[in-house]
Amino acid sequence: MTTRRTFLKWTALSAALLSVKKSSARKISFPAGETKPIVISTWRHGIEANADAWKVLAEGGRALDAVEKGVMNTENDLRNQSVGLGGIPDRDGHVTLDACIMDEKGNCGSVCFLEHIKHPISVARLIMEKTPHVILVGEGAQKFALDNGFTLEKFDRTPESDKAWKEWLKKSEYKPVANFENHDTIGMLAIDKAGNISGSCTTSGMGYKMHGRVGDSPIIGAGLFVDNEVGGACATGTGEEVIRICGSHTVVEMMRAGHSPEEACKIAVERISKSPKNIKEMQIGFLAVNKHGEFGGYALQKGFNYAVQSQEIDNQLQDAKYLW
Ligand code: ASP
Repeated sequence: MTTRRTFLKWTALSAALLSVKKSSARKISFPAGETKPIVISTWRHGIEANADAWKVLAEGGRALDAVEKGVMNTENDLRNQSVGLGGIPDRDGHVTLDACIMDEKGNCGSVCFLEHIKHPISVARLIMEKTPHVILVGEGAQKFALDNGFTLEKFDRTPESDKAWKEWLKKSEYKPVANFENHDTIGMLAIDKAGNISGSCTTSGMGYKMHGRVGDSPIIGAGLFVDNEVGGACATGTGEEVIRICGSHTVVEMMRAGHSPEEACKIAVERISKSPKNIKEMQIGFLAVNKHGEFGGYALQKGFNYAVQSQEIDNQLQDAKYLW
């Protein structure tokens, strides 16, 4: 168990080792006891998702239940072409879904490359709660879902995503799209009345990806990370770049070192900006909340926004600052 003494020692050591620029960083202490609940989530679709999550939090429910319920709203919406079964397919026409979830105790579950199941986030939660594993993929994940009462949705693509795919096939040109209609992956972070933090992340992944490709969204530490002593973070955008720097874990560690959520997200974005790949046309955004309920986001380029619902803020969309 981490004592306060070992925690502080670790903080000092890691800050020195990482040569973190500490000018704007400040020491934070994380009080126990009752906190004000908050839920934040990526992009415009976060508004509806937050509303469902808030119903759980306002009744004194658990953050874990809130982040599952919240993103199920987005997964349910077949008009959404970046989350759930309405998503843009891969190059071969398959809609393959990725999701993960993490609670205040460090429990986590993840599902990758899942087809024909409406709620990957609930499959991820079940993997977390009912199996000795963290990640299930593809056919095995689908079998696990069906064995546990999930229904096989028989359609391959919605009429809209089918049309978009057939149009894409004419040129078959692959290019990650920045700020895709303002609704890429949904990542959600919540703190409940007890002060516990949980997070969720769910996506259909990059449109027209290679068959079998998995992005950052279901990878614990990349698309999502929660440490109940410090805070939580989630990511959206070109997953390959987020994976390369263990993005969400990096953000949480920067908060542990004393940075505000926004500063921590900025540090992760700055690291990505040094990527060896050509990232000029990509978008990557991080969102974070700390144990005090302070939150912030930061993106590579203009256009990333996120929804915030708390006792003080009535489910508003906020624009993230950006690097270029
Ligand atoms: N991060 C997701 C992925 O790389 C997609 C996105 O957020 O746009 O699969």
